[in-house]
Amino acid sequence: MAVPNDDLTPEQQKAIAELLRRVAPVADELGHRFADAGHELALVGGPVRDALLRRPGNDLDLTTDARPERILEIVDGWADAVWTIGIEFGTVGLRKGNYQVEITTYRSESYDPKSRKPEVLYGTSLHDDLARRDFAVNAMAARLPGHGFVDPFGGLSDLRRKLLRTPARPQDSFTDDPLRMMRAARFASQLGFAVDPAAVAAMRDMAARIEIVSAERVRDELSKLLCGSDPRHGLALLVGTGLAAHMLPELPKLRLEIDEHHRHKDVYEHSLIVLEQAIAQEEDGPDLVLRLAALLHDIGKPKTRSFEDGGRVTFHHHEVVGAQMTKVRLTALRYPKDIVSDVSRLVELHLRFHGYGTGEWTDSAVRRYVRDAGDLLPRLHKLTRADCTTRNKRKAANLARTYDDLERRIARLSAEEELSKIRPELDGNEIQAVLGIKPGPAVGKAYKFLLDLRLDQGPIGKEAATAELLRWAREQGMDRSS
Ligand code: ATP
Ligand code: MG
Repeated sequence: MAVPNDDLTPEQQKAIAELLRRVAPVADELGHRFADAGHELALVGGPVRDALLRRPGNDLDLTTDARPERILEIVDGWADAVWTIGIEFGTVGLRKGNYQVEITTYRSESYDPKSRKPEVLYGTSLHDDLARRDFAVNAMAARLPGHGFVDPFGGLSDLRRKLLRTPARPQDSFTDDPLRMMRAARFASQLGFAVDPAAVAAMRDMAARIEIVSAERVRDELSKLLCGSDPRHGLALLVGTGLAAHMLPELPKLRLEIDEHHRHKDVYEHSLIVLEQAIAQEEDGPDLVLRLAALLHDIGKPKTRSFEDGGRVTFHHHEVVGAQMTKVRLTALRYPKDIVSDVSRLVELHLRFHGYGTGEWTDSAVRRYVRDAGDLLPRLHKLTRADCTTRNKRKAANLARTYDDLERRIARLSAEEELSKIRPELDGNEIQAVLGIKPGPAVGKAYKFLLDLRLDQGPIGKEAATAELLRWAREQGMDRSS
């Protein structure tokens, strides 16, 4: 069912027209190629949704009735590069100029509840392809080259209401592919949309089905959720519906009281605040490693909780236990090795600063902190600063000041140590050879002269240093020829 373009508000018409104009060189050329070959083609899903939301992007998702082998024939000689890794799932990837293009054959995919692999069934109509998509806002298309707007499931009105709703019954949709439950939480975080109550209810009923989905697919949605603009919203859905218990069980387990008097936030709420405070310090875009570390930094607490006499609660070595648990969980989710080791290292180091007190660390302790953090030091700074969620403003300001002090000491020490590593451009043996002298105090004087020269002028090269040394020696009356 094609919606006449005048169902769009003028603002929406403008947004779609702008998208189509922006991608015209690529999209229209492709559209004509497919039309000439007797096939349909439409821009679909993410780029259409994002254009209407005015979120920029450079990925083009297209859908067609042509089968993958046919797609390959049609784009042959036109695309700059072609990828066929997704071909058994009906997807051909290609690059044209700056555009990353994915062309997927119409599908009516169904999922065998016992199998981990979606079984691909090709479809023959755009409508049926849109019907099997995850959410109505992702089931809008613009035909190419004609630009007819297609929205059979009310995606536009959902967009207006900021709502994620499955085109079909949520139970059926999530049975076909349980990953869609995670995608609901992911888009909730990325777009700030609410999930339709019927879909939330289905997520609650069907949460356990996520276990049939491969870890890699779950991981990718989790990463996108965490890197979205409202991860708290997405995580609350995962935890609230019980999905998290099946893919990140350490998270719901954080919902435990840390004192008998309920005076403190529970560890779960604390972790979400730490995540948000870490995000607030990011400098260039979402940092998955930092976000994972902030979310998971206290997952060792439930296992290490112990009640002391007098009602005090302790969590001895929770950072060590937590680092180990982080490693196990992220490995199970098939995160790459460097992400696993970076995140678990940050979890392990997140408490170290608390031994700093009011600045009692020796220089050697500061050096160890820097060395142990290595490349992770800037993130450790952010994580440690974020890990202060006290409501006591004075206490928070004190902690921030103490950390400022530590950062200043790190800067001072590293500047000093950079300088202390500086050597003259010629060593003792070279000095002796250049000046034709034997070991003795003169070599030391010459060395000192060259070190000052290096400190004054920076690196000038051996040749220039040799010339300067000879000039200096003449002035000192120790020239070879004299
Ligand atoms: P982004 O690329 O920004 O992550 P997107 O909406 O393009 O967002 P993709 O994962 O690239 O998301 O998927 C492209 C489109 O394919 C979606 O818009 C949706 O229409 C459809 N889709 C993807 N995965 C599924 C799924 N598991 N079930 C149903 N439809 C899906
Ligand atoms: Mg996409």
